[in-house]
Amino acid sequence: MTIIVVVDQGACIQCGLCYLDNCPDVFKEGSDGTSEIAERYRTDSASQGEVPSDLTDCAKNAADACPATAISVLDLS
Ligand code: SF4
Repeated sequence: MTIIVVVDQGACIQCGLCYLDNCPDVFKEGSDGTSEIAERYRTDSASQGEVPSDLTDCAKNAADACPATAISVLDLS
């Protein structure tokens, strides 16, 4: 199973819900408060990564809770 997570950093309003509350294993706070993908899961940039299947629910919960709908979770399996 391949799970791709993308943060639309232009839409992120730096609320911190994803990296502080819902899924700190996948997301981290960038220097200006914008959400980033944790380094270990990044594929190319700070805004996109591939996460293991056991973090799917965590990433999806963060996407559902994001007030800016800035997180996309794509299941490519
Ligand atoms: S929950 Fe959404 S708006 Fe808030 S920091 Fe994360 S990506 Fe940005």
